[in-house]
Amino acid sequence: MVVTKKTKTAAKKKCNKCAVEYRIDTGFYKIAQTDANFPDGYVNVCRTCMKEEWEDEYSGFENFVDFLRVANLPYKKDLYNNSKDKPNYIRSLRNKAYMNLRHKDSDPMVEEKGEIQVRTNNLKELSAEQMEECALFWGKGYDEEEYIYMMSEYEKYTRNYVIDSPVMEALVSKIIQTDLKIRRANESGQDASKDIKTYQELLNSAHLKPSQEKAAAENDANTFGTFIKNIEDNEPIAAPLPQFQDVDGLTKFVRAFFTAPMAKSIGVDNPFPDEYKEAMEELSISMEEAEGES
Ligand SMILES: [Zn+2]
Repeated sequence: MVVTKKTKTAAKKKCNKCAVEYRIDTGFYKIAQTDANFPDGYVNVCRTCMKEEWEDEYSGFENFVDFLRVANLPYKKDLYNNSKDKPNYIRSLRNKAYMNLRHKDSDPMVEEKGEIQVRTNNLKELSAEQMEECALFWGKGYDEEEYIYMMSEYEKYTRNYVIDSPVMEALVSKIIQTDLKIRRANESGQDASKDIKTYQELLNSAHLKPSQEKAAAENDANTFGTFIKNIEDNEPIAAPLPQFQDVDGLTKFVRAFFTAPMAKSIGVDNPFPDEYKEAMEELSISMEEAEGES
């Protein structure tokens, strides 16, 4: 008897996903009801792989609900929200209050699905605050879907064109609004030719620069001053090479003919004796030279 039990608990199987072998009872999640698809009573993907699927930023919750469906476990909103994590939630389902519940007893999952859609970046609805912002920017008289359309269009324009002034912003928003008007007219079978004309005129006056020119346009705005500032800020100028140092000999001139005599006149030690001596020798005549020449 003992032996049978031991072999049973130590039974192992390979995960269908990562192919790692785990003990069935500790490595896999148990399903709530006997199911011919899962003869050993456990799902075929290991806990580690499951956890990974559930932690997916976008589809994590849906993956988790899929698991609950397969394992025939209920989704209970309050318990789920109060659980530290998803494995914790599954453990909590063993409590008396939940142990007899099956997937059909789940709470509605609509709210969570709504959340997922926002998180997956498919902007489907706007908050009250966003609606207000949109009404301020685009004006009233549009519905939620239209605001979303206009916002995504505006984003496309900012990505592809240089929109760098309030005038450009206004023009682009008018272009998009006119575009929406044309769409509305087309959908309801009305004549849109007047709006199309306005649309073209707006496009002309906006004189949109494609993004390839964007970088160039930005560079044009850099003045010589900003160029110098850039050098000063980012590339401090190194000391000149010896051959470019004091090409006119001004430093030497000042030291020999100004600083050194000045120091002497006020009774201070000559700070540049060598330079002074050199300059003086060059310009004065020795007794020998004077005698030899005369
Ligand atoms: Zn696995």
